[in-house]
Amino acid sequence: MTIQVIPVQGLPLIRKGDDIPALVCERVTFHPGDILVLASTIYSKSRGYTRRLSEITPSETAERIARRDREDPRFVQSVLDEAKEVLLEHPFILSELPFGHIGVRSGVDRSNIEDGMVILLPPDPMGGAGEIREKIRALSGKDVGVIITDTCGRAFRRGQTGNAIGWSGLPAIRDYRNDTDLFGHVLLITEEAVVDEIAGFANFVMGESHQGIPAAIFRGCGRWTGHDDLYFRPSEDIIRKAICTHVAGAPGKNPPPR
Ligand code: GDP
Ligand code: MN
Ligand code: MN
Repeated sequence: MTIQVIPVQGLPLIRKGDDIPALVCERVTFHPGDILVLASTIYSKSRGYTRRLSEITPSETAERIARRDREDPRFVQSVLDEAKEVLLEHPFILSELPFGHIGVRSGVDRSNIEDGMVILLPPDPMGGAGEIREKIRALSGKDVGVIITDTCGRAFRRGQTGNAIGWSGLPAIRDYRNDTDLFGHVLLITEEAVVDEIAGFANFVMGESHQGIPAAIFRGCGRWTGHDDLYFRPSEDIIRKAICTHVAGAPGKNPPPR
């Protein structure tokens, strides 16, 4: 199996109202089964999921966290406004978003947008991926998979990688449970997060700064079966439990000492 990864070249700076499926289809000829990977940053910009810091009034909580984390209180407020639950306030905010993703600073970005603006993660990235897939089907006649990504930090290791935050047309996880290995052992727990593996390599192709490549096509990945249950339920998530129980600075019910 040969897999091709094709960066989408020549996309403009994206503004609110831009039609990303049309802009991509003008530049790429899709094959059936291709996977289009899009940086969330351009999807958010196209949908206007951005804010101007000068229009944000920070709360007392935002002021307090901002002092401790040495952040702009208006930026902290934008992060808190996106969070469903704050898991950690210091040394950075770690929060859960309503759609299930847990990320540093709610995934709010100050890069690749004008000074004084922030980019929010899309509130419904699964819906967004589905909508892009439908529009590409309408424009190109091809059924493609779509993955919306964000660059994320991770536990235990340095360095950010791409994560999938929304997808459509492919299962997030390839389920190996009950498959047998080379020696006939039945696999009991192996589930492979394929959307994150693809997102990770797409992130490598896109880069993080001024490359101007917010989209890439993966061709030849084949198909797999599994499920979309990518996020742990809180009761299964031992890291989340450990943070909320043990780490100083985790907000929980008792706020940390000032
Ligand atoms: P994120 O990982 O979704 O937060 O996005 P990044 O800010 O890391 O950007 C990913 C890639 O998209 C980089 O190559 C950026 O230069 C590029 N990029 C970001 N915004 C735009 C845009 O509006 N137009 C184009 N053409 N590229 C962009
Ligand atoms: Mn980002
Ligand atoms: Mn990035």
